[in-house]
Parts: sequence; structure tokens; C-alpha cells
Amino acid sequence: MTAFPPVSLWMDQLGAPPPARAPLSGEREVDVAIIGAGYTGLWTAYYLKRQAPQLRVAVVEAQIAGFGASGRNGGWLIGELAGEDRLLARLEAQQRKESRVLLQDIPDEVGRVVAREAIACDFRKGGGLYCAARYPEQQTRLRRQLDDWHRAGHGTSDYAWLDPAELAQQLHIAGAYGAVHFAHLATIHPARLVRGLATCLERLGVDLYEHSPALELTPACVRTPAGMLRADWIVPAIEAHAIGLPPLARCQLAVQSLMIATEPLPPGLWRQIGLEQGQAFSESSRLVSYGQRTADNRMVFGARGGYRYGGRLRQDFVLTPDEVEQRRRLLVDLFPPLAGARITHAWGGNLGVAREFHPHMVCDPERRLAWAGGYGGEGVGASNLAGRTLADLILGRDSRLVRQPWVVPADALRNWEPEPLRWLAYHAISRSFAVEDFLLSRPATPPWLRRLSQHWADAMERLMEPPVPAP
Ligand SMILES: Cc1cc2nc3c(=O)[nH]c(=O)nc-3n(C[C@H](O)[C@H](O)[C@H](O)COP(=O)(O)OP(=O)(O)OC[C@H]3O[C@@H](n4cnc5c(N)ncnc54)[C@H](O)[C@@H]3O)c2cc1C
Repeated sequence: MTAFPPVSLWMDQLGAPPPARAPLSGEREVDVAIIGAGYTGLWTAYYLKRQAPQLRVAVVEAQIAGFGASGRNGGWLIGELAGEDRLLARLEAQQRKESRVLLQDIPDEVGRVVAREAIACDFRKGGGLYCAARYPEQQTRLRRQLDDWHRAGHGTSDYAWLDPAELAQQLHIAGAYGAVHFAHLATIHPARLVRGLATCLERLGVDLYEHSPALELTPACVRTPAGMLRADWIVPAIEAHAIGLPPLARCQLAVQSLMIATEPLPPGLWRQIGLEQGQAFSESSRLVSYGQRTADNRMVFGARGGYRYGGRLRQDFVLTPDEVEQRRRLLVDLFPPLAGARITHAWGGNLGVAREFHPHMVCDPERRLAWAGGYGGEGVGASNLAGRTLADLILGRDSRLVRQPWVVPADALRNWEPEPLRWLAYHAISRSFAVEDFLLSRPATPPWLRRLSQHWADAMERLMEPPVPAP
């Protein structure tokens, strides 16, 4: 049995692979059975055991802990949620403020736990730099977004504008027009966090079974090929993989995200780029490009993704030469000194997007199910919040965590439209974003065409996410 199938740079860096944990065999009775050993499942187990050490908690994982997005992501640990502004706009001003404090504290909460539990995962809270770098319209859009954030109640200590000279003190990105600095963001080594959490849970008395896929989800029972867990509560924590486990399939859709990493780069090269304090950076294309400087001085860069008809998972993440080259070219456009840097790793993963384009945390007391997901590419931090929230829901605690707008009853979740609508919409939207990028990055594009491409992309974006109601 292979302990570590090729997954990502991060999993490669763990050193000699420990033997895979034993699969579940036979029948066992527990209080809480968790399906999936990614961040959501492991954080839920962690907060359950910390609050109620007597609980019997078991986790079954189809592959190995961290095999999913949790062992593959870009390591941005963000103190916000995807779609947060829309979620919070429904609240009274005071409640909105309290919810925001809760979200902004996520990186610090993870920092506190990894310090307490001695999980060495390169945690660095250096903030995020959202850069306008490829064409002037990015600056206009980013400034508009900054105004929206400030109007919604964020301060300049949360989101602040950096002009090109101020940005250059942190990051040298080609042709910068400025950036927004977001304070509540840390970077981590994704695999060290997820594998460290798994080890920590075993110390706390959680049983973790690898190579144990849940075959079906029925009330009070999780069946795997060689065993069965009978449980009072079941937590399916499988995000993008929900398609394989009805009845969760239709409220969350799998999309793919792809990444590359360079070799460790010499100090001279880093002096030309910056990122000395563990900052993360992104470039403001609507197609999303982002990265971080790793603790061992590589550049890790993620850009673009994909969607498969029917929301099928992509299983093979050995990237094609074209997929690697497309990302390498984007990276070198932003950082010309990296033209000669060797790309040593390329990988990708599946992540989950909810129909509402914001995460959900759900408790169904009748079926004794609790689950969370739909993080939309911002699940590193959100899954920590989800773990705390699901633990409180299961323990029946009336905490401030369970009184948040993203905690919803199961019947409030919207299903995705049937195919071929999803496939057509995905391709229409991503094509409009790619055309906008292409036209705006060419100085020769006439002004009327620049405006048209933006209006078209704006309309497509609205199709995806309705505008935020005024607070
Ligand atoms: C390439 C990439 C880059 C990303 N970058 C970022 C980022 O920088 N910042 C950010 O916030 N988010 C990022 N994300 C998203 C983030 O990684 C995920 O939202 C988060 O890790 C989800 O955690 P999870 O535990 O819910 O799911 P996963 O980590 O996917 O874990 C689910 C686990 O369930 C297992 N499983 C599936 N089916 C079964 C079954 N039937 N039985 C048992 N086990 C099963 C899987 O093997 C897997 O290990 C990225 C995602 C990808 C793919």
C-alpha cells in the first residue's frame, strides 16, 4: 500500500513517509464519526475533544490525512469568508461588527492552537497584498473594492491602500499600480498543518483510520469496505468530494485549482522581489492568481482552474506541460527576475463552491448530521471556524459561533442548477474574464473595447454573485 501518493510540493516536503494508518475493520461504536481527514474534519475533532475529552471520536479517510485540498492548497490562511460582505449585509451594525471580529481572529486562533499543540507549520502572519499590476483598470476596480470594504465598516487597519512606492517596500511586482494591504492573513505550510493536526488528534485519543472510504451515508452509520462505525453524530467533512456521497452532492460543486512551485531561490533574487515577512500576494485578474514565498524560499504560485462537466472530480493532477507553462508565463510576467527559475513541482486539487458562493455550516438534528463546506477557495481559515462551529452545534452549545449567518438549516441550502447550465455558465464566465484580461493587458486596445470588455465581465460576475445589498 502506498503511504503517500504524489500530492503536492507540501506533501513531498514532509520527508520520509510514515506508514499509512490502519484501515477501519470490524464494527465500532463512537459518539461522533467524521468522514474525511482534511482541515474541516480534523478541526471538528480537535474542538470536540478539547471541550469534551470523554467523547469517542473517530475519523475515516478514503486515502491519507491531507490527501484532499488541505494538503495541496496555497497556504493562505485568511481572516474572512468568501462572500462575507453579502452574508454580513443582512445583519444589524453591532452584530456585523462582532461577526467581523470573529472572522478576523481566525488566523490568530490557528496561531494560538499551533503554538499550544507544537504543530510546526511555518505560521507567519505577514498580511496579504492584493496587487493591481497588469493594467490600469485593475487599480480602478481595486480602489472601488476598497471603498466598498470601508463603507461596509472595515477600517484602514484592516484594508489599506499602498501606492506603488509603498508597495515596493514589500513587493516588487512588474508594472504595479498599487495594492490593498489586508492585515488579517497568515501563510502556512498546508501539509504540515494537516498532518500535524492528525498527529495531535491521536494524542488526544481520536481514532484515525486511513484507506477507509465511507461507502454510503445512512443515519447513525458509516460503512467502509472492511468496517462500520455506529455513531450518534456523523460529520461528512469532504468538501469538493461531496459528489461521491449523496445526499450532499448537489449543494456543493467541485472545481479545480492548479499550482506551481519554483526551486529554492537565492537571497539575491529575493532581494529583487521582496516578501520578507511572510506576506501573501495576489494579482487582481478576475481569474485569480496568488502566491507566497515559502519558508525554504521557493515561490509558490496558483492561477486559474477548471470545471468538469457534471461537477466530476479531477483525479489526475499530473499537470500537462501546457498547464505548467501557462502558469510559469503568468508568474514571470509578474516577476521577470524569475525567468530562469526552475519549476520543480506542479499540482492541483479539487475545491468546493456552494451555489450561494459563500460557505455554509449546517446542523440537521433529525438526521444527526453536521457538515460544512462551500468555502470557494478560501477554506484554510474557514475550515477552522467550521470545526469550532460544528463542535458547538454537536455539543448543543448556544455560543456566538452558532448564531452567525453562515450557520443554516439543511433545507436552506440552494442546489446547483442541472447540467448543461453549470458547464455553459462556467465557460461563458471564465471566457469573458480571459478576454477581458487579454484586451486590457494590450495597450493598443481602443478605449471603447476596453470599456465593453469590462462591462461584459461585470455582467458575468453579477450572474455568478449578485451585488451586495447596502448595509
Ligand atoms: C490548489 C488549491 C489551492 C487552494 N488554496 C487555498 C488557499 O491558499 N487558501 C484557502 O483558504 N483555501 C485554499 N484552497 C481551498 C482549501 O484548501 C479547501 O477549501 C480546504 O482545504 C477544504 O478542507 P476540507 O477538509 O473541507 O476538504 P479536503 O481537504 O478536500 O478534505 C476532504 C477529505 O475527505 C476525503 N474523502 C473524500 N471522500 C471520502 C469518503 N467517501 N470517505 C472518506 N474520506 C473521504 C478526501 O480524501 C480528503 O482527504 C485551495 C484549494 C486547492 C485545491
